Amino acid sequence: MLNIVLFGPPGAGKGTQASFLVEKYGLMHLSTGEMLRDEIKRKTPLGEKLRSLIEAGHLVPDEVVVELVSKRINENKTSKGFILDGFPRTTKQAEILGEIFAENGTEVSLMIVLCLDDETLIKRILHRAEAEGRADDADINIIRTRIKNYNEQTAVVIDYYKAKNKFYAVDSEKTREETLTHINEIIAEIL
Ligand code: ADP
Repeated sequence: MLNIVLFGPPGAGKGTQASFLVEKYGLMHLSTGEMLRDEIKRKTPLGEKLRSLIEAGHLVPDEVVVELVSKRINENKTSKGFILDGFPRTTKQAEILGEIFAENGTEVSLMIVLCLDDETLIKRILHRAEAEGRADDADINIIRTRIKNYNEQTAVVIDYYKAKNKFYAVDSEKTREETLTHINEIIAEIL
């Protein structure tokens, strides 16, 4: 299995790159943000409970996202692999992901971190707000909260995969195509 943790701050382009990779390598896309927005859209009890947290730009509890991800991994054991977008976002989530994969006889193959400046992130998110209408994209203060939470709670996950020699960084200030080319070169190295 090829299991890629696609990582980076909000607005880095994880979703866009994930959809390219899903197509090229036949992987299954697991985006916890999309799963949570779907719960909100369907007005499920979980969605109703978490709506205010998500719309304010805060992380939801580890147990919630772990449950969503483990269910999908366990339901798709014959997949060629998974692309994890927006998960893990804490070291605890990374540890549990390792356990879920180990139970299925597999592991995280590599982590790819999309790197770019805060100013570019903000510009891209505000642009996306017009196209997609996400509540957490429309307000500059919420965007700043998300970037702050990334730096304070999530970026530490990089150290977890660095220690396992699975960390690769990609300059995502470039065009989507150039970024994708670099990602493909990294994947080709480990295949
Ligand atoms: P982005 O990376 O653009 O900020 P996502 O779609 O990945 O957006 O996530 C949107 C929101 O969903 C996050 O701000 C957070 O509230 C919640 N969320 C998504 N994934 C996780 C996660 N792994 N752990 C905790 N909260 C999460």
